[in-house]
Amino acid sequence: MTDKNAAQKNSQHKKRMQGIKEKVDQRIENAQEEKGLLIVITGNGKGKSTSGFGTVARAVGHGLSAAVVQFIKGTWACGERSLLENAGVTFAVMATGFTWNTQDKAKDIAAAQEVWQRSKLLLADESIDVILFDELTYMLSYKYLDLEEVITTLNSRPKHQHVIITGRACHRAIIDLADTVSEVQSIKHAFDNGIKAQKGIDW
Ligand code: ATP
Ligand code: MG
Repeated sequence: MTDKNAAQKNSQHKKRMQGIKEKVDQRIENAQEEKGLLIVITGNGKGKSTSGFGTVARAVGHGLSAAVVQFIKGTWACGERSLLENAGVTFAVMATGFTWNTQDKAKDIAAAQEVWQRSKLLLADESIDVILFDELTYMLSYKYLDLEEVITTLNSRPKHQHVIITGRACHRAIIDLADTVSEVQSIKHAFDNGIKAQKGIDW
């Protein structure tokens, strides 16, 4: 490429970047509203709970107060809990394991309701800035929790309070209510090739 061509390309690039910058600056300028967000991370791919916990860590790093409610407790204690509890994050964990392990519907419903009662207290607490409801979506698909009640409680939470909901197959009504929704798509997962869940990565 001649010097003249290179200079021309550079000038075109600069012009394009200026155009993008102007548009981005305008959008940042226009986004002035402050409010507690409802964020949903759904889909079949890996990365929903870790995204939720990452946001909690981000919030705590800024000095915000946070709580985590876990609706389906796995076989292993998740690594985030010990770290975040030490950083002052409140945890409320459902007492049963995976529903396909317990195979006891009445017990699962009672456990879901119990953790939901604790969730309602958190959703009324002005002092909590961010709450992660990990795997809440299943409680709605199995009808262990009442959809209308969940929506009413979310709507009446403190105005500044951010809520993150994770889990597959999020109910349409929660997606409609949310401010930000991301769907994590699975391209491939190590488990499909017989690789077991890895400590520190999968839990
Ligand atoms: P993570 O907690 O790693 O962010 P996740 O919350 O997106 O995962 P879940 O559906 O809650 O995913 O499942 C939790 C466990 O199942 C994790 O160990 C994760 O690696 C694994 N997992 C997630 N997606 C898949 C998948 N598509 N196939 C197999 N296993 C998966
Ligand atoms: Mg998860």
